[in-house]
Order: sequence, then structure tokens, then C-alpha cells
Amino acid sequence: MATQKTLHCPICRKDVALDDPNVPFCSDRCRVIDLGKWASGEYKITSPILDPDVLADLDNAQLRKLNEDTDDDD
Ligand SMILES: [Zn+2]
Repeated sequence: MATQKTLHCPICRKDVALDDPNVPFCSDRCRVIDLGKWASGEYKITSPILDPDVLADLDNAQLRKLNEDTDDDD
């Protein structure tokens, strides 16, 4: 028996056939909804510069620089 592979629409959880032109969305409507979520920032876009660890490193580097700048004779 042939197993019909399907995905679930990330927006409405409806089954989506793998050969659906809107994969992984069930419809163009859900695709647009998903794009809107990205655009509105509901989804966090991960990029190296936004990585908390990287930001912490940047903060530390700037703090060190500040300390050096203000480290005149105390
Ligand atoms: Zn959908």
C-alpha cells in the first residue's frame, strides 16, 4: 500500500500533500499569514549578530573598552 506522505500546514495544521504548490502551507492564504508573522516580528529571526552570546560578548568588549577609557588615575 502506498503511503501518502503529507506535511502539516504550520499555520492551520491541515494536512498538506507534498506535491502541493503551496508546501509547506495548505494554501496561499496560510503562506501569506506566515509571511505576515515574519514581517511583524512574531517569529524571532536568528542571525549571528542577534545571538545572545554574541551580544554578551559585544557588551563585555564595550565594557572593557569603557573601563580602559575611564581608567585614568584613580
Ligand atoms: Zn493552512
